[in-house]
Amino acid sequence: MDLMENLILNNILSPQCRACMEADETPTHVLLRCREVAEQRAAYLGSPASLTDLDGLLSFWSELSWLE
Ligand SMILES: [Zn+2]
Repeated sequence: MDLMENLILNNILSPQCRACMEADETPTHVLLRCREVAEQRAAYLGSPASLTDLDGLLSFWSELSWLE
């Protein structure tokens, strides 16, 4: 299962963000807006400008332990 499939599947199964429980768990929310994962996001991704860094993106996602 690749990252995008995970994102899509997670949204279908649990639309509410698991980190903050305050918004729908869309990729945009988690990657750019969610306050609860801001620390991990900054550590792995730096600024939003580096979102093209797939390795960083996957590391960030793994850190959240939302992947199998
Ligand atoms: Zn959130």
